[in-house]
Amino acid sequence: MIEIKNYINGKLQNPISGEWIDNYDPSCGEVYGKIPNSGKEDVEAAYIASAKAFPEWSNTNLETRSRILSKIADLIEEKLDSLAAAESKDNGKPISLAAKVDIPRASANFRFFAHAITQFAGESHESVGLNAINFTLRKPLGIVGCISPWNLPLYLFTWKIAPALAAGNCVVAKPSEVTPMTAYLLSEICMEAGLPPGVLNIVHGLGHATGQAIVEHPKIKAISFTGGTATGEHIARTAAPMFKKLSLELGGKNPNLIFADCDYGKMLDTTVRSSFANQGQICLCGSRIFVEESIYEKFKPDFVARVKALKVGHPSQKNSNLGALVSKPHLEKVLSYIEDAPNQDANILCGGNKVTVPGYEKGYYLEPTVIEVKTNQCKLNQEEIFGPVVTIMPFKTEEEALTMANDVRYGLSATIWTTNLDRTMRLSNHLEAGIIWVNTWLMRDLRTPFGGMKDSGVGREGGFEALRFFTEPKNVCIQYS
Ligand code: NAD
Repeated sequence: MIEIKNYINGKLQNPISGEWIDNYDPSCGEVYGKIPNSGKEDVEAAYIASAKAFPEWSNTNLETRSRILSKIADLIEEKLDSLAAAESKDNGKPISLAAKVDIPRASANFRFFAHAITQFAGESHESVGLNAINFTLRKPLGIVGCISPWNLPLYLFTWKIAPALAAGNCVVAKPSEVTPMTAYLLSEICMEAGLPPGVLNIVHGLGHATGQAIVEHPKIKAISFTGGTATGEHIARTAAPMFKKLSLELGGKNPNLIFADCDYGKMLDTTVRSSFANQGQICLCGSRIFVEESIYEKFKPDFVARVKALKVGHPSQKNSNLGALVSKPHLEKVLSYIEDAPNQDANILCGGNKVTVPGYEKGYYLEPTVIEVKTNQCKLNQEEIFGPVVTIMPFKTEEEALTMANDVRYGLSATIWTTNLDRTMRLSNHLEAGIIWVNTWLMRDLRTPFGGMKDSGVGREGGFEALRFFTEPKNVCIQYS
């Protein structure tokens, strides 16, 4: 039984209440550890430690701050194998994916912001004719809260923490209670890297208790949250009367627009990945696939054949393309959409069933599933399923494709497959999405703004956008004679 601890004031600590929550291994459906069921008192202890650390950390010179964050990046890199194994066991994702994407990216997050802060600058404006100069100081906000989901646990946790710390803030952070393990291992790494006590505090527990206590804390100045849209809405309501700064990265239902003039082979390879990577549990997965009519009847069998060839297996096996879904309730939620497909006038082309992996019969495995729908208005196309389920349907014209792509409450990302530059520009201008990929998917440059429109969120993370979020601009106007 692995016992996870809170990381408060530089020390690993038990929850004050002495209460714990079970932690499940999704690959076999068994409890393998316990995590603190933290309450308000633990969050308060974390806040006090942060507040004590803030004056010194916010005044630590950039070189020192940058060196400590780089050291954390180095240690994540050194421990890649053990972190990838822990992430895979906790989340159910294939270990190969954790080793190739999640953990390298967590290290890259720290390394990127360790450098970015040395290049970050305030603006200056000379008021010509008025003998005045304005310059903008960018001050850290103080104590900030970072709350992250279970789908890319260490990757998204560090995506928030690294810029917050780089900008000179102290942090009270909460990983998802469903996947707490690598956040716990990060505590140990921070201690090893010499991060001063209290600069980062990691409090484990449930959303409505621990998370809520962070959001409600009157002195925590900002909340950076990634998770579901309903939770984001609740957080926004709670934080608004306190005028907290909010960054909300929420759900998605991303369109994948495939035109006949695309590079077909590359599109097919990438579309299989953009549909089912991480068991389809990436907010950026292209879950609504729209295909130009002239290639639809070719695409359909080609895609289904490729999906049928994917191997669902234990996450530790190198040849598993899909591992387990993250939890039993989530598996049941995804299955409920599949079971409802016939009521939506939709046709399951492949998949749709639970998978029994020998030796791991109680694991949460599901076949990758392709459903043909008749209208974009059905529930399967309008609601975020967040599992290995995609829909496909044909379109006749670019205008029709654009209308269907935008006809949804979400606006996170979109992918376009075409070699026509004019079309690329027309669609990029009119698609309602914060991130648009053309002839690629999930290609990330950490300097670029990341986030969604509509119900997919508020604000942008990434690059200087994140450093702007985690700082307060203060204009100074000096008149001289
Ligand atoms: P979730 O909203 O249930 O939980 C996310 C985090 O919020 C968890 O740490 C949870 O404990 C916490 N939380 C829950 N209730 C809270 C409350 N009242 N106050 C404060 N914190 C609370 O989301 P999830 O199921 O963990 O993650 C899946 C969702 O995340 C999907 O909708 C997915 O699209 C979204 N997501 C979005 C992005 C993005 O960048 N836009 C990235 C990854 C995942």
